[in-house]
Amino acid sequence: MTDAESRYERIEVPEEHPENRVHDFREVLHSYTREEAMLEAQRCLQCALPFCVEACPITQDCRGYIGLVANGQFDEAAHLTLRENPLASTLCKVCYHYCEDACIMRGRGVPIAIRHLKRAALEFGNPNLEYIPSAPRHERIAVVGAGPAGIMAAWELCLRGYSVTIFEKQRAVGGQAGAIPHYRMPNHELLIDLQRFRNFDLTFVEGKAGGRDFTPTSLLAEGYKAVFVAIGASKASYPGVPGEALPGVLPALEFLYDVNQGRPVVLGKKILVVGGGDVAIDAVRTARRLSPGATVTMAYRRTREESPAGEEEIRETEPEEVDFRWLLSPLKVLGTDRVEGMVFQQMELSAPDASGRRAVRPIDGATTTLECDTIIMAIGEKADLTGFPPELGLKIGTKGWPEGSHPDFMTNVEGVFAAGGRSVVHAMAAGTKAAESIDAYLSRKEGRPASPRPDPFGGDTTPPPHPDGYSSPVWKP
Ligand SMILES: Cc1cc2nc3c(=O)[nH]c(=O)nc-3n(C[C@H](O)[C@H](O)[C@H](O)COP(=O)(O)OP(=O)(O)OC[C@H]3O[C@@H](n4cnc5c(N)ncnc54)[C@H](O)[C@@H]3O)c2cc1C
Ligand code: SF4
Ligand code: SF4
Repeated sequence: MTDAESRYERIEVPEEHPENRVHDFREVLHSYTREEAMLEAQRCLQCALPFCVEACPITQDCRGYIGLVANGQFDEAAHLTLRENPLASTLCKVCYHYCEDACIMRGRGVPIAIRHLKRAALEFGNPNLEYIPSAPRHERIAVVGAGPAGIMAAWELCLRGYSVTIFEKQRAVGGQAGAIPHYRMPNHELLIDLQRFRNFDLTFVEGKAGGRDFTPTSLLAEGYKAVFVAIGASKASYPGVPGEALPGVLPALEFLYDVNQGRPVVLGKKILVVGGGDVAIDAVRTARRLSPGATVTMAYRRTREESPAGEEEIRETEPEEVDFRWLLSPLKVLGTDRVEGMVFQQMELSAPDASGRRAVRPIDGATTTLECDTIIMAIGEKADLTGFPPELGLKIGTKGWPEGSHPDFMTNVEGVFAAGGRSVVHAMAAGTKAAESIDAYLSRKEGRPASPRPDPFGGDTTPPPHPDGYSSPVWKP
């Protein structure tokens, strides 16, 4: 193979063999060696206009760290990565790598393994760095919800010298990222990331729920200068069909949390997962690992091509003894005391809908019944706004989480902001925007200029917000 040809072949990411990995929660994807990482990084063209950077919701300078990995400068690559990405240990395992979708090499072969090179930067470079806050401002901000959006906002605000308290209703931090199965994120990577926050004036208060123990307005009255509501989407959605409340029907999010926390879960021998997104895929793969010998089926109302799950996730699941059933929409759950099966409406594809996805329509009179003793519902989640005052004007959009109605995420109550995101890195981008809005709001009130993000490692110079050649984001929220 010539040098030019080898540029178009990705250095294969090592993977645990399906026969071994379906019996436990060992990690599916393995690290590159140093040499493999350097070879893969050397495929990068170091584009003058880095589409990869523009596609990353947090504008991670991936071109920069890839160039350093290509030279074997792993410490420098880790430093550059962590300078703008405080959850890099998490994202190098679970990010849906929007950068790779935009990589110019995608059109010429296989995109650069940008996420996996982030992992190499942190594994072979020194990730044990610590963030340094600016001089204290003595202004305390409250964040409600310890998911990626809330944590990112806290990072931005603490770097600028604010004090932050994060109130979290669960007894653990991380939000939905805490439900990501260990075969994808085995080492509590989010807690590893949080180690770098140790110099901040940041307090986590666990087991305290907004709407029950306090409200955003009561926090303002207590003296918090601003409140960021980052409660994500923690309540399971159901399809609204008869029988869905029967014993044996489990919400996917709770199921995945319980497994990760080591709490006992009871599954039968015929497990059916309803849904077609990444959460459904995680539920089906987790059920497979917990129940050797059981049949594990996933039923979704569209086709594989139309499913919202990532191609990588589906491809990894296919050899794991899972039965995929497409074009089936739930009609009713069968059973008297417990789940015994589910009846589905058979669907067919029609013309594309407004979003460009091909719509589906029911086939008249055509139904399918699948026998099962356990159903895991994975058709979506939405925020729980119980107890949040209506004057905030919080509404749950189609995305599932509440967002302030103003362009800067401010709600109808001055000083209260709200946002979230559809992936870890999107939630982080929302957290950054909310933190910038909070800083701008408080700076306006105090008659001082808004503060740009300082060097997270305490240097004198403010790093440029974007790498050379960056024009505007490809990704729009
Ligand atoms: C099973 C699963 C797998 C996923 N896999 C991936 C993946 O591989 N890659 C990826 O990028 N994304 C993945 N996601 C999506 C990603 O985790 C979310 O998009 C992201 O966590 C959203 O961040 P957030 O901060 O907006 O909300 P959340 O993560 O939902 O965090 C909100 C936090 O607020 C807390 N909270 C809720 N209500 C209250 C209240 N009233 N008071 C106080 N606290 C409250 C919640 O307990 C939670 O901790 C996955 C999601 C799930 C469920
Ligand atoms: S954070 Fe995600 S989208 Fe951004 S560069 Fe890393 S892998 Fe790509
Ligand atoms: S778009 Fe691809 S080839 Fe170009 S700099 Fe980014 S990773 Fe490298």
